[in-house]
Amino acid sequence: MLDDFSTPPDLLAAKQQMIQKDLRGRGIRDEWTLHAMARVPRERFVPVQSRSEAYADNALPIGLGQTISQPYIVALMTEMLQLTGAERVLEIGTGSGYQTAVLAEITREVLSVERIEALSRRAAEVLGELGYANVTLIVGDGTLGYPQAAPYDRILVTAGAPEIPRALTDQLADGGILVMPVGDDDSQCLQAVRRRQDRLLKTRLTPCRFVRLVGEQGWPEGD
Ligand code: SAH
Repeated sequence: MLDDFSTPPDLLAAKQQMIQKDLRGRGIRDEWTLHAMARVPRERFVPVQSRSEAYADNALPIGLGQTISQPYIVALMTEMLQLTGAERVLEIGTGSGYQTAVLAEITREVLSVERIEALSRRAAEVLGELGYANVTLIVGDGTLGYPQAAPYDRILVTAGAPEIPRALTDQLADGGILVMPVGDDDSQCLQAVRRRQDRLLKTRLTPCRFVRLVGEQGWPEGD
């Protein structure tokens, strides 16, 4: 186990098991990702009543109809971004802020957009308490990206839609990578896209299931 400063003793064994069995055991190899997930205390990002399940490999409800993603999927998406530490990352769907923290452990700067203000505020509190100084949280419609600070070396979308919003690929730097679950409500596939000048090279991976990306270039509101 790598150094960990904040997970209490009663959850440490479960956390170690998550890293070994659910992440390494299912093929996660990127040491940056594994190190980041060993450091971030997931129990701080789940509701108090779910604390004992913080290291089970499941998504959990975080209120307002949203969920914190399953650890394996967080690890897989992080690994797919191929971070080296130097990248500026735009995340769409802050939710609990857990994925944001994992990214902030690895890379220089993370900007994260969330459409539900109450979730963004709660995430800001936890991320602040944990001392992440390289994170900026924004409330707004992430299907439009965040053009003010574009282009981004990496873009990670943690909610699903039938297509990748054009605004996001437009804000991806040359050579940059975007990862997003693409598909309908019942089944999506994690898709990675690399931008080479004006071309987008797509690879399709692992089936997954995310909540809806709701907004101008995603699912319509209140549907
Ligand atoms: N990364 C999060 C997962 C949250 S679930 C975590 O680790 O906890 C996906 C989140 O995307 C939800 O909080 C949802 O409100 C948000 N979301 C949906 N559509 C959005 C949009 N257009 N812009 C920003 N956030 C959006």
